[in-house]
Amino acid sequence: MKRNWEALVLKAMGGREFRLTVLDSERVSGSLHRLLVDGGGLLAAAEAHPTMWIRLWFDNEGRSHQRAYTLVDPDPATGRFHLEFALHEGVAARWASSARPGDTIDATLQGSSFTLPDPTPTHLYLVGDSASLPAVNSLLDAAGDLPATIWLEYANDDEKGLPHRARAGQEVIWVPRLDEGRHLVETVRAALTSPAEGAYHWVACEAGTTRALAKHLRKGLGVNRHQVSALGYWTAR
Ligand SMILES: Cc1cc2nc3c(=O)[nH]c(=O)nc-3n(C[C@H](O)[C@H](O)[C@H](O)COP(=O)(O)OP(=O)(O)OC[C@H]3O[C@@H](n4cnc5c(N)ncnc54)[C@H](O)[C@@H]3O)c2cc1C
Repeated sequence: MKRNWEALVLKAMGGREFRLTVLDSERVSGSLHRLLVDGGGLLAAAEAHPTMWIRLWFDNEGRSHQRAYTLVDPDPATGRFHLEFALHEGVAARWASSARPGDTIDATLQGSSFTLPDPTPTHLYLVGDSASLPAVNSLLDAAGDLPATIWLEYANDDEKGLPHRARAGQEVIWVPRLDEGRHLVETVRAALTSPAEGAYHWVACEAGTTRALAKHLRKGLGVNRHQVSALGYWTAR
């Protein structure tokens, strides 16, 4: 597969390249496929952090197709981690579904960073979906028993069975994807009507939905920019 200009730019920006090898492949449900991979030295080269993601290079009929995926349960002792793919019509999702032990894929580490705010937030407000659930789970692991409210958008009923890591006292609210995501925006807006002192907000959904929620938090409620993190995880087309 020919790597394109994107790969050159990322390398020039300090991107580090690794070759991952699939060790195990598991269909968790109709909407999720999980791979166990050897990181090819990635976990020795970089310390893992919550929400850590890499750029994977898929082959799209000879053209390179780069998409971001989150490291699940990175284990520096073995150099292994899982990748969880939300399933839909797409090159990445298709590759994952048919990946077998021994298959390899190139990865670039560039652009991922995250630290939980200091001082520790009084409450976490997380908004995600099946694509950002691995990142949501890594935040919940890092947050321990912090109070949290988590909205998760789902397109298919079976997504409500996806494994989340909320603990007692952390509320998970499943919201159907309706009206191209506007239902989720309205649901969160109705719940968050004033800035919550010391709270931290993290939003990672479809791009338009994420933009609308970030605007509500930053401009509508005037929440300090250090208390909001928002990144579109996919684009509806
Ligand atoms: C930092 C970051 C971390 C991410 N981590 C993960 C992760 O761990 N697991 C994960 O599953 N995804 C994750 N994503 C999202 C993933 O990169 C996108 O969903 C990506 O578009 C999938 O590529 P594709 O080749 O399968 O589909 P594309 O070629 O991008 O799109 C093909 C079609 O599928 C639709 N589509 C793409 N993604 C979705 C989706 N999630 N739901 C519904 N329809 C979709 C598009 O609108 C389009 O119509 C992450 C994204 C970011 C930015």
